[in-house]
Amino acid sequence: MAKPSDTPHCSFCGKPNNLVGKLIAGPDGVNICDECVAICDQLISRDKGAAKPGAPAAKKTGPAEAPAAAPAEPPKPIRLIPPGEIMRTLDDFVIGQEQAKKVLSVAVYNHYKRLKGRLEGVQPAPEFGEDLAPVEVEKSNILLIGPTGSGKTLLARTLARTLDVPFAIADATTVTEAGYVGEDVETIVLRLLQAAGGDVKRCETGIIYIDEIDKLALKGDSAHLSRNLGHGVQHALLKILEGTLCNVPPQGGRKHPEQQYIQVDTSNILFICGGAFSGIEKTVGSRINNKFVGFDIATETGDHLSAEQIMANLQPEDLFQFGLIPEFVGRLPIASVLGELRQEDLERVLVETKNALTKQYRKLFAMENVRLTFEHEALSAIAKKALELKTGARGLRSIMEKMMLETMYDLPNHPGTAEVVITAACVEGREPPRLIPADGK
Ligand code: ADP
Repeated sequence: MAKPSDTPHCSFCGKPNNLVGKLIAGPDGVNICDECVAICDQLISRDKGAAKPGAPAAKKTGPAEAPAAAPAEPPKPIRLIPPGEIMRTLDDFVIGQEQAKKVLSVAVYNHYKRLKGRLEGVQPAPEFGEDLAPVEVEKSNILLIGPTGSGKTLLARTLARTLDVPFAIADATTVTEAGYVGEDVETIVLRLLQAAGGDVKRCETGIIYIDEIDKLALKGDSAHLSRNLGHGVQHALLKILEGTLCNVPPQGGRKHPEQQYIQVDTSNILFICGGAFSGIEKTVGSRINNKFVGFDIATETGDHLSAEQIMANLQPEDLFQFGLIPEFVGRLPIASVLGELRQEDLERVLVETKNALTKQYRKLFAMENVRLTFEHEALSAIAKKALELKTGARGLRSIMEKMMLETMYDLPNHPGTAEVVITAACVEGREPPRLIPADGK
């Protein structure tokens, strides 16, 4: 098998050819991808725009000047999608998590309404009060709390697709404060710029999902180094979350003085942060009721609250207690909790969403003129297996892939097959998938 280093990749951003639109080869094995070409083009046109006749040559270092060249096309007006419509699209891709979907739909609608005011000067009619004109609607970044594989990333990605804005994912654990080994926070913004094809204006209205945000808040009394590092990263993220002019190094990696930067304003970028925050329900539970026992707590009337009911009482102070610094929590004013997917949810994930896994496999088989059928009990068995893995819907794919491997390998050797039937026994490894030939025998 080829080593990653053997795979053709962009010599600038390091992405392999299967992750870029086009890879252009130069001499001596040097390549550049379409995204980096777009970024370089942006840099060059800014410098050309900044250089006036008789003026000194454009600066070679430091932040790039504000763009002086007229954009080729006027920016598209922001399309406001009502919350109900956003919710319906989310419903097509995400099972359950109704409250989170509603919170996100409204938050995103308000966010882009805010941008209409800031970028297009849209103001409420004067009869609603002259005092509203100077009011600045603050940015509302979002915190999603939920176990792994419950749909946090999927929600953020689906939102970006619905709104047709660039989207990037970052992992909080790979980010470090300047000066430490790891990625600068600017690298996160660079990813969004690349997703926007180098278009700074488009990038500035995009969505960034930062995963594993809870890992920045190590718990326990041990005030060890990693705890301090986590706090340092929270501080480093504060500025981009709130909104700053960020100097993005177009090649990624660490900044250095000889480098030329692209300036990106992050004040209109929507940040969605996600994390499992495992154990936080105990903090919430003990705050709301001292009789907290295990995962259930007894209320004064003797009823028991589930972890989800406990989490509905989440307050910022619980996040401080968990180890996030108050300023950081303050930049994430909208918090929503996602529940663990139950067996019936996982069964729905398998069949109901637009991109449901069973549909994907059915399509692959149909391309060989074979009907793929999953018996209902098989779906239950797959969901049950995934529950045991404790990785939410994330486990479904590996279970399916393992189960379908032999059949997908064998199928081309059985050209007469009309149908493949997956039973519960197949899922449990007690029998292979049933191949039914075209003549039905
Ligand atoms: P996380 O909560 O860890 O960010 P992801 O959103 O990355 O989880 O989910 C992993 C995969 O599991 C997704 O690609 C998606 O296919 C599936 N998935 C997770 N949650 C849901 C859900 N609520 N509805 C539909 N699919 C889901």
